[in-house]
Amino acid sequence: MKSVIKYSFVIPAYNEEANIPALYERIKQLMSSHQDIWELIFVNDGSVDKTLDVLKNLTSEDKKVKYIDLSRNFGHQAALSAGLNHASGDAVISMDCDLQDPPEVIEKMIQEWKNGYHIVYARRKNFRKDNFLKKIGSKIYYRLMGRFTRIEIPRNVGDFRLVDKKVLAEINQMPEHSRYIRGMVAWTGFKHTFVDYHRPDRQKGESNYTLGKLAKLGMDGVFNFSMLPLRLGFLMGFISIISGFGLLLYQIIDVLITGAYYHLYKWLVVVLFIFMGFMFMLFWVIGEYIGKIYDDVRKRPLFVISEMKNFE
Ligand code: UDP
Ligand code: MG
Repeated sequence: MKSVIKYSFVIPAYNEEANIPALYERIKQLMSSHQDIWELIFVNDGSVDKTLDVLKNLTSEDKKVKYIDLSRNFGHQAALSAGLNHASGDAVISMDCDLQDPPEVIEKMIQEWKNGYHIVYARRKNFRKDNFLKKIGSKIYYRLMGRFTRIEIPRNVGDFRLVDKKVLAEINQMPEHSRYIRGMVAWTGFKHTFVDYHRPDRQKGESNYTLGKLAKLGMDGVFNFSMLPLRLGFLMGFISIISGFGLLLYQIIDVLITGAYYHLYKWLVVVLFIFMGFMFMLFWVIGEYIGKIYDDVRKRPLFVISEMKNFE
């Protein structure tokens, strides 16, 4: 490892005016025990509060602090991508703005990186208690994802992690538009490890992840990294056909043995209902994938930067 190391911290911020100064202080304190250089990149994701003003003040006081101001709210994953695109450190740490990601954990992550791991995930030991639906939802979600994705996306891991610049270079090259960054990081396949931590509650402000945004992120995870929806269509079709034939066989045998009479509609209804369901499922799945293709062929930029500061 070379003598002077550079660390980048990348932090998307949406309406985080109350958290930024404290976060800055904590990172400054953390890094004061290191000889290395560092940069702190905030991405203002179209905040409607004073986030940008707070960032402007901070960047003029300390040149290590930089900000990228997006023209509107593009969402957490796009904002994070913007920051990652401009991070120049040897190790890049992405984290939330809300002080839920404690610096002691960063210390351990750095240690693991120095031990030779290219990806260090912070894995939370406790479950979010902010919202019952989110809690249950994320439990079920990770269980299903673990079972059905081709690549292993770690459980109970968010976007608090350290990646080596090698990993970052790969991520930055990926052109896909619906970004599920934790999946993309796992997809690169670099050597990884975990640092466990207890995730405290958000310090100030409200969680910006509404259930809707969370559901969208989850969908991106499923459709970008899993063939499960396609297989679901297959599974439904398979079950439909088998049960359709089963019922048909039952009716035929019943007719042959007991001489029972089945009205024509009974034959038709069995067959029709099954095939209709089957087809709707397939239409839905195909629609999702066409949606993805549509997204990508448009080749819209992932984000639009209106201003940048303190970059050489
Ligand atoms: N965030 C963002 N754009 C958004 C929503 C959130 O940049 O549209 C940022 C937010 O400022 C925070 C991080 O993404 O730094 C995670 O959001 P939040 O803390 O609200 O999510 P939670 O921790 O509740 O999952
Ligand atoms: Mg948070």
